Amino acid sequence: MRKYFYPVLAAALACLPTCAQAQAPADSATFLLHKFAQRIGKEIYHLTRTAQAHTYDIDFKFVDRGSPVALKAQIALTPAGEPLLLAVKGQTSRFSTINDTVRVAADGQARIRVDDAVHTEPRPALSFPVAGYSPGTGQWLLLRYWQQHGRPASLAMLPSGTVRIREDGQDTLRYQNQPLLLRRYVLKGLIWGNELLWTDAQGNLICIITNDAEGDKLELLAQPYEALLPALVERAARHGMRLFRAEMGAAAGAKKATSTPLLAVVGGTVVDVVRGRRIPNAVVLLQGGKVLKVGPAAAVAIPKSARVLRAEGKTVLPGLWDMHAHFQQAEWGPAYLATGVTTVRDCGNEFAYINAVQRAIDSGQGVGPRILKAGLIDGSGARTLGIELANTPAEAVQLVQRYKANGFAQIKLYSSVKPEVVRAVCAEAHRLGLPVTGHIPDGMTLLQGVAAGMDQVNHLNYVVKLLRRNPDGSVILTDTTADRVFAFLKAHRTVIDPTVGVFELAYRSTKDDIMAIEPGYLRLPQPLQALFVNMGQEPADAAKAMPYINSYPRLVKALHDHGIPVVAGTDMGFPGTSLARELELYVQGGLTPMQALQTATIAAACAMKLDARTGSLDVGKQADLVIIDGDPLANIRDIRQVRLVVKDGQLYEPAQMRRLADYLELAGPR
Ligand SMILES: [Zn+2]
Repeated sequence: MRKYFYPVLAAALACLPTCAQAQAPADSATFLLHKFAQRIGKEIYHLTRTAQAHTYDIDFKFVDRGSPVALKAQIALTPAGEPLLLAVKGQTSRFSTINDTVRVAADGQARIRVDDAVHTEPRPALSFPVAGYSPGTGQWLLLRYWQQHGRPASLAMLPSGTVRIREDGQDTLRYQNQPLLLRRYVLKGLIWGNELLWTDAQGNLICIITNDAEGDKLELLAQPYEALLPALVERAARHGMRLFRAEMGAAAGAKKATSTPLLAVVGGTVVDVVRGRRIPNAVVLLQGGKVLKVGPAAAVAIPKSARVLRAEGKTVLPGLWDMHAHFQQAEWGPAYLATGVTTVRDCGNEFAYINAVQRAIDSGQGVGPRILKAGLIDGSGARTLGIELANTPAEAVQLVQRYKANGFAQIKLYSSVKPEVVRAVCAEAHRLGLPVTGHIPDGMTLLQGVAAGMDQVNHLNYVVKLLRRNPDGSVILTDTTADRVFAFLKAHRTVIDPTVGVFELAYRSTKDDIMAIEPGYLRLPQPLQALFVNMGQEPADAAKAMPYINSYPRLVKALHDHGIPVVAGTDMGFPGTSLARELELYVQGGLTPMQALQTATIAAACAMKLDARTGSLDVGKQADLVIIDGDPLANIRDIRQVRLVVKDGQLYEPAQMRRLADYLELAGPR
């Protein structure tokens, strides 16, 4: 077997993109797969050459939190590089499968099978069979095809879709004390948004930073180069953000907050979330990234120098918060701003990635909300997530200190932390002024987690576990057990982010119209539509779960009524718009629209002890607001009608943000 990787020196000296044909592919290669920087599997290909075909047999497998995700693929090309066959079968995430075949006949007809549906169509002249982010070998062969065919602006994919590829530049990294030159490509159309792929100077695949079919960042790295992962992850964050800045150019919003002029939002109804009231016909003055004045038009004079934004007939909300984000690709930035979310708590991410994303946004090199980072800590086990692990109290202390030193606002515990380590994490975090949130680790109850020091709990199911259920599965909210649980949570001021929306998605019937949950469905990027339309249960299973899952919004209401702080969080879902869904569900459960809005503004700011600075439209607070077409206090669904967003005094147009986030623009009303 030939050796795949050429010496580093040869790579550094090799000629650059324009001059040479890519070299012949190696007979085999191994790529390591990572999630949250943890190595979780690998992909291996073997190449067989005959006079008729070059055939790649590919084995792709990772294990994600204990669940194996495996697929096998075969890709055959003519020796000249024209596609003959793609066959992919297996899983693309813990929750999704694939079974596609594309066979190109000598007459140019492509016979395409997707699951059980078969059809034949003429293969477009410039097209390549590829089935999403996996296997990486398929993406690399797609890139080679593109290079060999004059680098067209776009290529048709089979069975479906279009991919746009371009060379974006070069990165020089240090590898074994030598400079290593990598060529960087941006692919758009395989997954949501931009995907980054690097080859070495000879065209060998080195790295792909992508997202799997459940939206989690997945990194594929050629085996010898594993040590480069943190550096490449950091570059992915930076380049991903830079692409937006390039696209926005000198457009509004590109200036720094300090240079923004005096802004006056005039005539709208301001929602005062602190006092739970509305201020009709109000004026909000913003300057230097802060709220200068707010009040009824009669009481607030509009300076001549102010730039006036008319808001008659509209509602003016404080910037919204998502308290359960996982900012796993740059597109989340504009997706959040498009929906009025100006602050997110990132509830666990890769260390290098989230630091770089936050730096890019805060320095004006990126586009996105303010990020409050919760540092993920897990323990070793069969379902471990990530590589920030604490198995002893000493390791816990060290890790908490590292997060504190890097500007994290909070600690997020994950499921495999041992109980005695939970206590150590909480003690050190509290000593450093960091609250602790998280999953309730395996082997503990919510009560034990809170007793061990947890200040907050992510996901409502940990509360549900403590409650009794009716025979139909619905949760009992009005017995002595429930009273005891509520009293305990209230006494500890335990903050809950319910993430009701993800439970709804997981338990919905896939036969139901998804537009009822997400009216913006048709505007989602195609890869996300494909992802969400298949998420859910068979109708019979969904019907069985209905009483249970319908209890969730009512439990939110019960928590709220018992004085337990509830903060709105999405755990991803539909990028940006899932926050609206979360609030809709709270109202469905019985909260008033005002109370629901408070969970995504002032209550969230209070939970993070930032309410003196942000979370409402009050004098001296951050200039973060959302102008809504309509009245979400009358109809919470109006919160989706975002007209304009201001963050730190800068304006963001939703349509432009959606373009950056790769959303489809539709004609007609939203
Ligand atoms: Zn989460």
